Amino acid sequence: MTVAEVREYISRVAERASEPPVDAIVQSCVELKRRAVADLDQAAAKEIWQLESVLEIQSHYLSAFESMKAGNFYQAWCGLEQAEIQLSFLDRHRSSLEHEFRIDFIREHVPKWQSLFPYRLFISPEILELEKRCSICHALVLPRTGCGHRLFEIYDGEMCGFVVTRAEFLAIALVEKPVQKYSVPFIKGPEGEDKDHYNYGVVEYLISALNAPFDPWSVDRQKRRQPHSRFMNVSEADPCPCESGESYLRCCLTQSGVLRPHLEFIVPLQSGLPSERYLTSLVPKTASELT
Ligand SMILES: [Zn+2]
Ligand SMILES: [Zn+2]
Repeated sequence: MTVAEVREYISRVAERASEPPVDAIVQSCVELKRRAVADLDQAAAKEIWQLESVLEIQSHYLSAFESMKAGNFYQAWCGLEQAEIQLSFLDRHRSSLEHEFRIDFIREHVPKWQSLFPYRLFISPEILELEKRCSICHALVLPRTGCGHRLFEIYDGEMCGFVVTRAEFLAIALVEKPVQKYSVPFIKGPEGEDKDHYNYGVVEYLISALNAPFDPWSVDRQKRRQPHSRFMNVSEADPCPCESGESYLRCCLTQSGVLRPHLEFIVPLQSGLPSERYLTSLVPKTASELT
C-alpha cells in the first residue's frame, strides 16, 4: 500500500462501516514509516505519523458514536476523550490535513458531545513525579540537561513524550476540570463493582435522532419555566426543582413556573436529504421525576 492509498482510505471515513479492516491500514502505516526511516526521510515519516493520528482520531470518534448507539455511555465518553487527546497532539503539527478527513467535523463535535454528558466532578490523583524518561531514547529527563529530544516533536515517525517511571501518590481530589476525563466517580454496587448511576437522557435523546456519525447537529440551551403541575409531588419546603438550592416556596413557586433547562436540537431529517433539518426539543427530567 502506498501513502496515496492510505490517504484515499482515510478520506472515505464517512462511508466506513463500524468494523472496518483498519488493522490492515495500521500495518501499512507501520511498514511505510519503517521504509521512510530507512531512507532517512524524516518528513515522510512525520507525514505517516500524521495519517496514523488521523486514523486514530477517526476510529475513536466512530467507536464513541457506536457506543452511544449501543447505550454504552461511559465507554463512549472514554472514546471521545481519546479522540480529544490525539487531536491535541495532531494540532501541534498543523498541516494540510487540517480540513481533510473530517477532522474539523470531529474537532467541532467532540466537545459538543462531551457537554451533553452528565459528569460534573472527576477524581484527580495528585502525584509527585520523581523520575521521567524520554520516550524516544529512554534517557532521564532532568531539569537542566536534556537528551536533545523535544517534547511532542516527531522523531522517526514517533511523537516524543515524557514517561513517568517513578512517582509518589500524594492524595486524591474531586475536581471540575480534570487533567484526564476518564476518572468519573461511580457508586459501588453490593459486590464492590462500579454502578453507573448517571442520567444520560440528553445523550440518549440526541443519538436516537441521528443516523450516522457525520450527521451534522447543533444544540441551543435555554432555560424556560415549566408548569407547576409537573411538580405536584414536590412540597413547598422541598428543594426547588430548578436546583437553585433554595426551597420551592422561596424560589420558583411564586413564579409562573419552574425554571428548567430546555434544549433545542437541530438534526437531519431521518429520511430526507442531508441538508434537510428539523428542530426537536427536550426538557430533561429532574432527579425526582426519574426515581
Ligand atoms: Zn531523548
Ligand atoms: Zn427555583
